[in-house]
Amino acid sequence: MTQELAKSALKKYFGYDDFRPLQLKIIEGVFRGEDGIVLMPTGGGKSMCFQIPAVTMTGTVVVVSPLISLMKDQVDGLRAVGIRAAYLNSSQTGTESLAVETAYESGELHLLYVSPEKLLSQGFFTFLKRRKICLFAIDEAHCISAWGHDFRPEYTRLKGLKTAFPETPVLALTATADRLTRKDMAEQLGIPSAEQHISSFNRPNLSLAVRPGLKRREQIINFLRERPNEAGIVYCLSRKQTEKMADNLRAAGYNAEAYHAGLPAARRAEVQSDFINDKTLIVCATIAFGMGIDKSNVRWVIHYTLPKNLENYYQEIGRAGRDGAKADTLLFYSYNDYLTLKDMISGNPNSELQVAKLDRMKEYAESMACRRRILLNYFSEDHAEDCGNCDVCANPPERFDGTILAQKALSAVARLKESVGAGMAIDVLRGSARADLRSRGYDQVKTYGAGRDISAFDWNQYFNQLISLGYLYVAHEDYNKVKLTPAARRVLFEKETVELVKMTTIKKRREAAGAK
Ligand code: ADP
Ligand code: ZN
Repeated sequence: MTQELAKSALKKYFGYDDFRPLQLKIIEGVFRGEDGIVLMPTGGGKSMCFQIPAVTMTGTVVVVSPLISLMKDQVDGLRAVGIRAAYLNSSQTGTESLAVETAYESGELHLLYVSPEKLLSQGFFTFLKRRKICLFAIDEAHCISAWGHDFRPEYTRLKGLKTAFPETPVLALTATADRLTRKDMAEQLGIPSAEQHISSFNRPNLSLAVRPGLKRREQIINFLRERPNEAGIVYCLSRKQTEKMADNLRAAGYNAEAYHAGLPAARRAEVQSDFINDKTLIVCATIAFGMGIDKSNVRWVIHYTLPKNLENYYQEIGRAGRDGAKADTLLFYSYNDYLTLKDMISGNPNSELQVAKLDRMKEYAESMACRRRILLNYFSEDHAEDCGNCDVCANPPERFDGTILAQKALSAVARLKESVGAGMAIDVLRGSARADLRSRGYDQVKTYGAGRDISAFDWNQYFNQLISLGYLYVAHEDYNKVKLTPAARRVLFEKETVELVKMTTIKKRREAAGAK
């Protein structure tokens, strides 16, 4: 019955016949008054999960969104299909907001978009309580967590929402949150046991490649030569770098512009719209570029330097190939990039976590395992297949049967009760005489010394591979302890075999990237 209702609304307002995977399940949860967490890639159809309840349930859906600049577009789009939507934020005049408030109070609105500042302003809860709210949708919900990569302190005040409206379901939506951020997000929003709806992040049409960061400009020109008239983005670390890159590309005859937060707003808008309208083919940008840009035919994305974390990286490459057609991504990596970023981060509050995330990024760049496996495992999909569309799959490194080695490592982690970091686990495997190891009784565990024949450096590399392959993960919230995934149990108890890359191959690659 409710399914029918949801489906007919989908057809009536949006003209679509079927829900995408997960949408219906999420909407039914809202109908039942349940809280939920939604993790879907950008463009995956998150908004639909609160728009359908808005037009089918009694009461208004209140959408909290930090992206004020996008609110007007979203509301205009909804109004165009006959949905009664409005927004309240600091960009409006008093008269405008008064009109919206009146519409809300007279029960006219399906959807009310508000900025967090507005929501938390004096007396606003009391105002909201004058009508029935059927759902709070928290968009970009990862911004509430200091564990996320886009922390916005004002978002943390949303904590009070569930207390003030205990009866109203809360749906937290994001396109980017690792395991830990999701957990923190749920706790902060007062919905710790909300169901987590995670849709696949796999974008099989995007090719993934990492190259050593040598002669980058030359490599980029060669890359472009093979792709005449294809739109793309070069992500750079600094404003200066974007301008230099754009100059270089123009000098080489390409239609390229720079984009960064230091440009006047009018100029930024111009670059953006020229790119969307295919007047500019290439944009050299800092990460500020792309938020909310809906251009389907971006054919490639290059990272001139290492991004700060895998969330940023995945979002940025995700701007390519939205139309589903083949698109290419290329990341340049040098060990120096890593050191530069590490320096930049080290003064920040929260720097430990940021360094841990940067380390994951570096391991991705240095890894010898299928890159898509690493990414998908990072976003906690158990993805056991190589993809065939990344540079590692295209050019597989020399491997060996690492099952026994993996079993040793995984069983050490298990016997240490998943309560130590990789360093300690390795010391146990190597039978180290470290005093704190002995005082904790770790020299008594069965795997103590079982990996003596392998150096600590090599073990470290093998642990990285086991993380990349999705057998282990690092719990950043829990002192970076290494933990087992369900896939690890298959290796320990169900005879799953593990192929690892030979150390000789790894060392060669690291040297090529300039690592010591
Ligand atoms: P998100 O909020 O996750 O970025 P949106 O909800 O804005 O994604 O949806 C992205 C695009 O996909 C929109 O153009 C939307 O109309 C379309 N879309 C969403 N759900 C469906 C569906 N079930 N069938 C077809 N298109 C859909
Ligand atoms: Zn692959």
